[in-house]
Amino acid sequence: MYSDYDSILQRLNQGRLWDFHGGVHPPELKSLSNQKAIETITMPKTLHVMVKQHIGVEGGLLVKEGDRVLKGQPLSHSTNPFSVPVHAPTSGYIRHIGPHVSAHPSGLPELAIEITTDEFETWAPLNPILDYQQKPKSKIVEAICNAGISGMGGAGFPTHIKSSPKKNVEFLIINGVECEPYITSDDRLMREHAWQIRQGIDILVHLLAPKLVIIAVEDNKPEAIEAMQVACQENAKYRVVAIPTKYPAGGEKQLIQILTNREVPGNGLPIDVGVIMQNVGTCFAIADAIFTGTPLIRRVVTLTGQAFKRPQNVWAPIGTPISHLLEIGQYKAHKQRDRKLIMGGPMMGFEIVDDQVPVVKITNCILAPSANEIQAPGAEQPCIRCSACADACPASLLPQQLFWHSQAKEYEKANELNLFDCIECGACAYVCPSEIPLVHYYRVAKADIRTQEQEKAQADKARLRFEARKERLEREQKEREEKHAKAAEARRKAMSEKGNDAKDKIAAALARAKAKKQANSAQLESQQASPQKAQTSEASEAPQTANNSKQDKVAAAIARAKAKRAAAKEAAVKEANPASEDSNTGIKETDANKAPTTSDVVPEAPAKAANSNKQEKVAIAIAKAKAKREAIKQAQQAETAKTVAATETALKTTPVTDEQQQLQTEDVHQEKSEPTAKQKAIAAAIAKAKAKKLANAKPAASPSVEKQISTEKNSEQPEVANDELQTSQQPEKLTAAQIRKQKVEAAVAKAREQNRIAKLKRAEKAAKKPSSSTADKDES
Ligand code: SF4
Ligand code: SF4
Repeated sequence: MYSDYDSILQRLNQGRLWDFHGGVHPPELKSLSNQKAIETITMPKTLHVMVKQHIGVEGGLLVKEGDRVLKGQPLSHSTNPFSVPVHAPTSGYIRHIGPHVSAHPSGLPELAIEITTDEFETWAPLNPILDYQQKPKSKIVEAICNAGISGMGGAGFPTHIKSSPKKNVEFLIINGVECEPYITSDDRLMREHAWQIRQGIDILVHLLAPKLVIIAVEDNKPEAIEAMQVACQENAKYRVVAIPTKYPAGGEKQLIQILTNREVPGNGLPIDVGVIMQNVGTCFAIADAIFTGTPLIRRVVTLTGQAFKRPQNVWAPIGTPISHLLEIGQYKAHKQRDRKLIMGGPMMGFEIVDDQVPVVKITNCILAPSANEIQAPGAEQPCIRCSACADACPASLLPQQLFWHSQAKEYEKANELNLFDCIECGACAYVCPSEIPLVHYYRVAKADIRTQEQEKAQADKARLRFEARKERLEREQKEREEKHAKAAEARRKAMSEKGNDAKDKIAAALARAKAKKQANSAQLESQQASPQKAQTSEASEAPQTANNSKQDKVAAAIARAKAKRAAAKEAAVKEANPASEDSNTGIKETDANKAPTTSDVVPEAPAKAANSNKQEKVAIAIAKAKAKREAIKQAQQAETAKTVAATETALKTTPVTDEQQQLQTEDVHQEKSEPTAKQKAIAAAIAKAKAKKLANAKPAASPSVEKQISTEKNSEQPEVANDELQTSQQPEKLTAAQIRKQKVEAAVAKAREQNRIAKLKRAEKAAKKPSSSTADKDES
């Protein structure tokens, strides 16, 4: 049942409290250390300031090895709301920063700043806030955080977080119960520094504005109760309440239940039930930080146990090695058969394994019991199911079942039994008749579960990373495939364009080759046409333009040849018929022979000679044209072969597809075969021209001309032919005169006929001249 504020206040006014379930009453040995005032000890030569001394995360380092530091100088800074800085407890040098044995049951090394102290204890500049009520609350909270204050009752929760809750606070409970046996640090602090604790409470009240402040002190500390009542008597909101001695009444949840009858949820905080709880040592540190600017660099530590010659409370600088405190308390090590040092109380403390473990902000006691003082636990016996543990559990748990599941590592079942609600008070183990170290099993189980949770969290992170990586790889693979597809498409386009370029180049090369061939063909045709023109011009124009001069010269030459030939014939006749000179005709043979040769034969001779020379020239021109044409053909064929070879080379060097290559090869083959066809066409044209020329020559040539041509073809032996003719025309019956007369008549007739034929031929050529020129133009 949830109690409201008024009922709680009414009950408090009546001096009545509530109780919590369970609890034990271990023997109290507080008198060992609470009889002396808190002593300020000598500064140790070496301090090991652990960077993390609270629940949360460690701050960031502000110093490095070799740095000189001043007393109160911050060594780290807060990097997170759940981190508080640490400070130099005195002046000196940073000797080393590194792992050092921790103030933890495991003793695992943690980051520590090793300071070599000097004897000066030179302070760093301090910044007190005297008029804190005039300052914003955030500045006060910030100052508390910068002072490195965390809960000094044992949990080590950052104080500045508790000083700025988001919910309304009904009760501010100042915990001065200190229920652990042997421990008297809070007792001595309240006795000696109640006023400063009251100042700290005032600051918290300013920040939290609670309805009521309850200063709870166990009733076995009457001096402390009195001191706090004196310090707080002027403020009606402050109530000093004596709590019945019962362990663990100083537990946060248990004390809230005793004072308010409100139960903090299993996974909740005191603020969830309208309560904020602070330790009296924390209040003292808050006042120190605000009014003097001094950070948390020291705390009260109880040195107790029968192994100490001088048990007492001391102001121990943070980082003081336990070995130094053992010297201060005059630890009687030589008398200890089984040396045992406990940090904390006998119920909730842990045994330290190294005397170099440093004092941290939650270290309230160093217990050095003698061998007879605290008996070593006996051999663990089987659980007898007496349920004494359950009766003693202040958290209303089932320690027996938790033990079984923890031992069997059935952590899920242990969690179902609210294992983490266990405050590790040790009450169950304290009452267990089987001497089972129950708390040890719970701690191991909690550590294993935390490890599993961390591993699970890491596995979840790894799984998320793997899935993210897999997704990324798949996405990148897809992007690569798309990129490759685009690149392939681009390459295909590029190849297509390149192929087109190659085709264009090949087509251009072929076009150039064709153009060159056509040019060569045109040149060849032109050159072929030139002889025809020359022939035609010689055949047609010569009689017209150079007829007079050339014909005259030719005629003269032919006449001279004829005359010479006639003289030779006549001499031959005279030689064959010597009496012919004395013929009865009275005409000298010479004159008779001379008459026809000089008068009748002369017109025939020039025409015949002219025709013979013209045909010779035409034949020579045709031969030259043929030779030139043949040379051009050969040059053209060589050029074509060269072009084809160059084209094939270009085709070989140009990367084209098989189809393109095939097409190119076919084109080249066509190009190779084309010249042959053209040459054939040219040859056919030449043959045609020849035939045409012959056809033109045939009508022009009369039988006599043909005879002359045939005679000229046999001109190598003209005299022999004449001799044969003479021999055939020289019958024995005829006389020499008759024979000569017949010859003269035949020569005259022949000359007339030839003359007539020449005239006809010239007329025909003259008539054909326009058509021949037109034909030349058409052929060109
Ligand atoms: S007190 Fe010990 S023996 Fe008894 S039930 Fe609990 S664990 Fe078992
Ligand atoms: S140690 Fe845990 S289980 Fe045992 S009594 Fe304390 S709270 Fe209960």
